[in-house]
Amino acid sequence: MLINASSSSTLTSPAHSPVQVIHVPCDFCGSTKRHYYIEKIRDYDLDWPDTFNVAICDNCGVMFPDPRPTDQDIFVYYPPNYNPFNPRQVTGGLARVKAFFDRRKALKVLRYVGPKEKIVDVGCSWGGFLAMLKTLGDWELSGIDTDPGSIEYARNVLKLNVRVESFEAFPEDTLYDCVIMKYTLDHLPSPAKAFEKLARIIRPGGYFVLQIPNNDSWEAAILKRYWHGWEIPRHMIYLTPQTTAAYAKKYGFTVKEVEHELNPNNWIWGLRYWALDHARFLVPFCDIKNPFLLAVLTPIAALAKFFKKSGRTEYILQRNK
Ligand SMILES: [Zn+2]
Repeated sequence: MLINASSSSTLTSPAHSPVQVIHVPCDFCGSTKRHYYIEKIRDYDLDWPDTFNVAICDNCGVMFPDPRPTDQDIFVYYPPNYNPFNPRQVTGGLARVKAFFDRRKALKVLRYVGPKEKIVDVGCSWGGFLAMLKTLGDWELSGIDTDPGSIEYARNVLKLNVRVESFEAFPEDTLYDCVIMKYTLDHLPSPAKAFEKLARIIRPGGYFVLQIPNNDSWEAAILKRYWHGWEIPRHMIYLTPQTTAAYAKKYGFTVKEVEHELNPNNWIWGLRYWALDHARFLVPFCDIKNPFLLAVLTPIAALAKFFKKSGRTEYILQRNK
């Protein structure tokens, strides 16, 4: 399928006012040739009726939503109840498990970034990861996010050096030793432009810590339209270890480490999304706090991690010297 890259149309759904949607060329290679990999996926996260397609570029294989809301209208899909904006999204025992894994990730950063060095968390949300870093090392920490409520919490409750700002508006007057993007790059309008900027704000030899869903995963293959990682239309790009490495190479970075995360949550989210379409009475049981589902799905998630087919991946990329 060859698309007219400048064509736009209007989408109307009962959930909200009309939004403009647009076809864009492939972010990686600029091609306008693509075909649809999965059509008409609903926004299960918000349980809204709007549907979008996942396209795959015929030239380079990068995947992305098509069409997608314009940059002016995408905010509609970030209502105040959007899950990552909630600092208490997990509590109790699960919060301790999450803290354990956050600590492991933070300790990994410690291996690459020396004392006093500058780290910025782009898309820091309510500051959970920055707060964890603060307990582990003497770094110059800062963060940005576009959600004012999250930044207010991070600044006033966690006492972090954070501000409301988009990465597009982020100034380029400072060289950083490390930039962190935890599930943020996939929300940016152009990962290519983001990589260009990263190459300008990370010092030669500095690091880019990237966490991003992996659509070359067992989850994506089995759950198909119910895979949490599509998060359509908020995710603007779907990457695999191969396509992430291609972006890294193109913009002057070297892949130092790839870690597949242990993540039963995405499997539970997938069941929840399936239940939303087929058996709504099961939805309350498809919860990450359900011990039965955790007991069944954690070993599957562990196998996916072992075989490097997890739906969530973390990369340590080094800017070439
Ligand atoms: Zn392409």
